[in-house]
Amino acid sequence: MSKSIFIDTSRCTACRACQVACKQWKGFEAVPTKQTGTHQNPPDFTPQNNKLVRFSEHKIDGRIHWLFFPDQCRHCLQPGCKMASDPYVDEAIVIDEATGIVVCTEKCKDLTEEQCQEIIDSCPYNVPRRNPETGMLSKCNMCIDRVHAGLEPMCVKTCCTGTMSFGERDDMIRLAEERLEKVKKEHPKAELLDVEDLSVIFLVTQPRAMYHDYACRQPRPLDRGEFLASLVRPFRHIIG
Ligand code: SF4
Ligand code: SF4
Ligand code: SF4
Repeated sequence: MSKSIFIDTSRCTACRACQVACKQWKGFEAVPTKQTGTHQNPPDFTPQNNKLVRFSEHKIDGRIHWLFFPDQCRHCLQPGCKMASDPYVDEAIVIDEATGIVVCTEKCKDLTEEQCQEIIDSCPYNVPRRNPETGMLSKCNMCIDRVHAGLEPMCVKTCCTGTMSFGERDDMIRLAEERLEKVKKEHPKAELLDVEDLSVIFLVTQPRAMYHDYACRQPRPLDRGEFLASLVRPFRHIIG
């Protein structure tokens, strides 16, 4: 059985406790940021921020609404990041057999900066970030250390509004579908995002594009050079 996180954004108050808890658990240091006219801070994922509560402001039915999206790696069932890294460095990114969690390993340090960029570009949700000081790729690992110890991920444990739930994938899908049915009564446009392909399941109340650019999958069309490179890539590790 694989593990999943269900994130019901209809309950999120954007308190950012999950964001802080993630940083604390992972031992990430504070990074100076600037006020850019939004409460979203930092403005984007960094190597020191694997969880980021995104804010977006919209006028809906004549009233201003803030939409909140506690963003993180979706732990794809077929992760583009792993597919892109495998030809370069075997096991730089792995899928944990017991849980389905997608993990960046220390072997990521053997990837070049260019290869890391290719891996970042291959993520449909624009999640991983490279730490230029260590060469490591950084992203949510679903707190695999806690999960293997029988604990919930730190962000789930910290959220006190019921936005985040953790458990077996089948149970989380069931919970998500039940919540969707209820939420739809107030928000008819509510939906679950790419639930069939992901282990982190988001429920949103408004059309997904209103949350942020990568709230939905972004298949990036390859230009000609990238297309040719993609044909050669599987053989690179053979020919060296
Ligand atoms: S802790 Fe819960 S309510 Fe607070 S920002 Fe995170 S998901 Fe939203
Ligand atoms: S969301 Fe991106 S980084 Fe996370 S598993 Fe999927 S492809 Fe990899
Ligand atoms: S599961 Fe763990 S690593 Fe992932 S966002 Fe939550 S606290 Fe951070």
